[in-house]
Amino acid sequence: MMASVPTQFRPELEHRKAFLLLRWLLIVLASYLILFSYLGTGSFNLIFGLAVCFSLSNIAFTLVPHSQFEGRLVRNMIDVVDVGLVGATLYLLRDPATPLFIAFFGIFLLTLKWRDFKLVFFSIFFVSLLFGVFRNVVLFGYQLDVSVEEFLTQALFFVVSIFYVFIAERMKLDAALSSAVMEEKRYAEVMVEITRAVSSSLNSGEVLFEIVSRLRDVLGAIECSIVRVDAKTNRGYIMVKSTDANIRDVEIDLKEQPELQEAYDSRRILVAPHAKPHGLVAVPMISRDSVLGLIHVRAEGLDRSLSEANLRFFEVMASTVANALRNAQLFEEVEHHARTDFLTGLPNHRFFQATLSAELGRAQRHNHQLSLLIIDLDFLKEVNDRFGHPSGDTVIRLVADTIRTSCREFDLAARYGGEEFTVILPETPLAGAVQMADRIRERIAAKYIPGIGSITASIGVSSYPVNALTKEDLIRVADQALYVAKGGGRDRVAYFNYQMVTR
Ligand code: GH3
Ligand code: MG
Repeated sequence: MMASVPTQFRPELEHRKAFLLLRWLLIVLASYLILFSYLGTGSFNLIFGLAVCFSLSNIAFTLVPHSQFEGRLVRNMIDVVDVGLVGATLYLLRDPATPLFIAFFGIFLLTLKWRDFKLVFFSIFFVSLLFGVFRNVVLFGYQLDVSVEEFLTQALFFVVSIFYVFIAERMKLDAALSSAVMEEKRYAEVMVEITRAVSSSLNSGEVLFEIVSRLRDVLGAIECSIVRVDAKTNRGYIMVKSTDANIRDVEIDLKEQPELQEAYDSRRILVAPHAKPHGLVAVPMISRDSVLGLIHVRAEGLDRSLSEANLRFFEVMASTVANALRNAQLFEEVEHHARTDFLTGLPNHRFFQATLSAELGRAQRHNHQLSLLIIDLDFLKEVNDRFGHPSGDTVIRLVADTIRTSCREFDLAARYGGEEFTVILPETPLAGAVQMADRIRERIAAKYIPGIGSITASIGVSSYPVNALTKEDLIRVADQALYVAKGGGRDRVAYFNYQMVTR
């Protein structure tokens, strides 16, 4: 007879030993019943042979290796042997007046129908109890000369049934335990993987996507996302979503997601297995006493799959994510500071150098042109001297804004140092760069700075490949052109074509 544990347990459960043990008990029961029924008859040897065959079949099945035990072939073989042997048992107990026949037939049918040990053996227990009651009524009511053989049959039936019920219950417990252990193991593995992902990358986008993908897999969830909540505005933003790697910072209305809001406010994990359209878990991510956001899981069957262990896993997960998030944010801040000029917010000299190398490399590979502007404010020293250093700073900041807003998306404006700026213009020929420089120069000159007036700038232009082939040459030529612009009277743009030109 076949039995199966619930599908989610099957891969983990060491099912073979328990199954064979139960089959032994069934063999003992069947053998005992028929041997007793045929005690002292001529067919006893035949019947004994049948019981031995039944037993040998179980010994044979113990030789099947673990890996193949769950296989179709072995299961079919067990089915065929059982149908044969159980059929023979039923045949031998066939007199319908014999309660043994009815009991055994009932057990067999139940086993086939439910394939669940607990129910089947509970039925055996129940049947044998009825059987016992019936016999005792007969014993005490009407018929005092009951045979010892019948009494022993009934007693053994009863004892074996109780034994079955206990073993079946034990098996269920083992299955549940084994599945809980396996689940913890699976979660521990995911934790290790996530921790590894967290420590191997400081890019928060990558880390978070890795985390939601793993979470979705391990939970068998439909969707898993990380929602950041802005504490000041109380707005939610989906930072990552397991089903869409491109999603970044999509705003959601927390009022339409009351569960998320509740988990956020209460700082406690919220499980709503029956939420619409899918069950939901919201886990607040707390780092250093502030809630950074929520892990939001959508899945079916949460009421079945969420155990204490899972909830603990969620908590650990959420704090790992929160710390990863905070570390990644800190790293990004540090990185941003390392490449940004404090006064103007523009990229600094170091970042300019790195970008120019990269852009020039690209221009060379794709046969594009590339131009460079170096912008130097005219007479800033005078501004400092007349209005003070802070006013000079204001001028630098305002000019930086003017330059930034004059650039296209792919241009890079940077603070080169002091009162000098640069602009890298990818895919821009010399003529376009000169036009651009002139526009910047005009805008700077046109800007009125309260309390100071206006300021002008001189701009030197160089261009790859017209008058420079290397990064150093680009800077040197632009610098020389700037020197020419200064020499030519300032507030102008200068560049070298075949000969030096100023305008
Ligand atoms: P020009 O470029 O037209 O020849 O005259 P300039 O006065 O701008 O040139 P110079 O190179 O002689 O002096 C640059 C001045 O810019 C020196 C310094 O006082 C000022 N400067 C450089 N960096 C800063 C800064 O960060 N803040 C302020 N307030 N001034 C700065
Ligand atoms: Mg200057």
